[in-house]
Parts: sequence; C-alpha cells; structure tokens
Amino acid sequence: MAKIDQLTIDRVLEAADIVDVVGEFQDLRRAGVNYTGLCPFHDDKHAGNFIVRPRGLKNGGNSYRCFVCDKKGGPVQYLMEREKMSFPDAIRWLGRKYNIPVDDVPLNWTPPPPRPVPPPPPPLAIPREWVSGMMRRGYRNNFVGWLYSLPWSPDRRARLSEVLWMYCVAGYNDGRVCFWQIDHEGVPRSAKLMRYENDGHRTKTEHPGWLYNQPGIRERLDPDNHTIFRPLFGSHLLRRYPEARVNIVESEKTAIIMATLWGEPEKNLWLACGGLSWLKLDAMQPLIDDGRRTYLWPDRDGVDAWRQVCDKLGADNVTVTTDFFRTCYVPEDDGPKADVADIALRLMAGGRRPTPKQKPKPVEDAAVPPVVVDDGQPFLDPVEIADPRVRQWREKMGRVHSKGWGQWPTCNVPGVKSVGEILSEHPLLKKLFTNR
Ligand SMILES: [Zn+2]
Repeated sequence: MAKIDQLTIDRVLEAADIVDVVGEFQDLRRAGVNYTGLCPFHDDKHAGNFIVRPRGLKNGGNSYRCFVCDKKGGPVQYLMEREKMSFPDAIRWLGRKYNIPVDDVPLNWTPPPPRPVPPPPPPLAIPREWVSGMMRRGYRNNFVGWLYSLPWSPDRRARLSEVLWMYCVAGYNDGRVCFWQIDHEGVPRSAKLMRYENDGHRTKTEHPGWLYNQPGIRERLDPDNHTIFRPLFGSHLLRRYPEARVNIVESEKTAIIMATLWGEPEKNLWLACGGLSWLKLDAMQPLIDDGRRTYLWPDRDGVDAWRQVCDKLGADNVTVTTDFFRTCYVPEDDGPKADVADIALRLMAGGRRPTPKQKPKPVEDAAVPPVVVDDGQPFLDPVEIADPRVRQWREKMGRVHSKGWGQWPTCNVPGVKSVGEILSEHPLLKKLFTNR
C-alpha cells in the first residue's frame, strides 16, 4: 500500500477547518470568537469546557481543547480521537470533504450510527416566591450585621439598604447569609449559603453550601434530575439597567460593597462570580451575546488566571481591569485576596494611601471609580459620622490599619438592624415581588 505523499497531506491539512470538521459531528455554539460545545471525550454535561478556536486566530487557532480532560489537537486529531480513524483515513476523509484527491485506497470508516442523545434534564428554577419569602423572614446573620457596622456616611448607609434589597440578600435559618443567583431573565436558579464571622470574614472552616442541597429542600427541588445553572450574582439587574457597564468581582461581599460605594446602577453594575475559578463561560454568555461592556476585577492573586479566562472567551467587550493594583496603595499584608473593595474600605476607614512616587497612569477607560485621584486625598467623600461610638471605632480602625490590615475589629453599635427588619420597612420590597 503506497504511502500518501507529503504534498497531498500538506494540502489537506491546509484546507481542513476545525469548525467545519467538529461541526459535522456535534453541535457548536458561538462564544465570542470561539465556539463551544459538549466535550466528546469525557462525560460532559457542561457546555463551556470544550473550546474550538477557528482558523486565523493567534494562540492556537484551528484547534480544539477540553479544559476538563485536556484533550486537544487539530482536525486530524479530532477524527482520530473521536472517530477512531487511522491517520491515512483521517487524511482521506478530509480529502473527500474538501475535494482534494488523496489516493485510490477506499476510506475504511463507517459513520457511527446516530447515538440516541438523552435530552438534558430541565434547568432548575426555584420558585420566585422563595426569594421574597426568605427576604421577609429576615434571619439575622453576621454578614449583614457587619456591613451595617461599617462607618458609612448616612447617604451610603441608606444606599446599603437599597443594595441589599436590590441584590436580594437574605438570611438562611441557621445564621448563614443567602446570596440568590437569579438569572438575567429574573428566574432564581440557585442560592449560595455562606457563614460569616462577626468581623466580616467568611468562616474558613465551612464550605459554602447550596440552597437546593439543604435537608427538606433537596426533596422539593430534586437537583439530581435538573441541570444546575449558577448565574452571576446580580445578573437579574442586567435587564433593569441595560445601559450600565458591568463589573465582575470574585466575591458577593465585594459586589455589595462596591455597589454601595458607587451606587449608580444605571451606570455601573457590580456582579460577582463567587470565586477565582467560578468565572465560567455559561454565566458570561448573556453578557457576551449582548455585547455589554464588561470589566473583570480579580483579586490580587487572580489577575493572571482571569487574563487567561478573558483570552479564552475571546470576546472583545470583556476586559480585565488590574491597573488599580498598580495605581492604588495595596499593602502586602492585605494578602493575596486583596481586592478593589479592600482598597475602598481602607480609605473609608480613614487610611490614606501614600503619595505615589510617580504619577499613576489613569486607568484606561476605567470601569468605575476615580481610583486614580492623585492629590493624596482618599477618593471617597469625607465620612460624616454623628455617633461618637462609631468615630471611636473608626479611629481604632485607622490605627489597626496603619499597622496592617489584619482583623477587622467588631463594632457593636446598637440599632444595627437585621436585613429582614430593614427590608420589611422598605417600600420597594412589596412592589418587587407582588406582580410576578
Ligand atoms: Zn473533555
């Protein structure tokens, strides 16, 4: 049997287009400049791990790669791996597809019988009344208590109530805070339960839980027979504020704090993906499809990882904003999880950043806040504090922070209300849920 000559192989390889080839065997969906679908090489239930990069792209064009099982290659590897073709047969198959004569040997491959594909289980949708119900019940939790203990100015304190309401932050009956994950069409898809210490830090010994896994609720929602989708925290606000730029941070706490500080949701929305490794394609898809201007604000230790995600997404409306680590003073002892809210809180608490040695470059088309004010002044308004106990606490904070970030001291200012108490007083709460 004669070998296929190299010139023919080269012609075939040059003609082969990965999107065409993969598209012959499975469904692909556009995701920015890339395509994505279910990975054929492992038991994949989550579109978004298997990425196909078309021809002509820098960094691995005309190739596929799965980020779970790490199978990767070009058109020929795909045919060999998926269809179990030999190399010559893969060349023959491609030759036939692209009308390039290869040799006279017949293609030794029969298309596999169409496999019955079971339909994916329906997506989990949690009844909308559960959100309002949980918000009305207003269980106390440390997260909300801590937020109210911060030395906000009166207008920001009022805004905090509004923000907690807008984001549907609620409490679970065991003292955990419940972050609802409601999609851009207003359907509650999931809810994350997290326990916080009264210093505003997450209880490290306890992993976040999911509402649909809780005893008594699991039986009612039956998550095992549903597809679980976890939208970005705050996604339900996208439709309400169609013109807003979208800022994505890691933690829900950061999103709440930033939304309170720059509370103009019609201009800037703050969404959270829930953690460094949670910036997933399916959660980003509505933003990519919409062409929304989107800025990613990773924690300090997440800059490189999120840059990579950004490259993979290949959407030109999504950018990573990292300049604030360069232009703002973030002491090393803030640790690897330092983020944009740490900078903001430090300044709010009276800490000042030292005058930078060189004039910082303005953040390019910065999503948000004037983080690059170069007059040595904190970039927030002076905090007006009437309550002397809060002032004392703030001074203490300033001292703590001049030594290092460390632990937030607790502020036991009486009159701090639970989120439920605040929300039940909120005139807008009733409006939100009674109509739908
Ligand atoms: Zn795979």
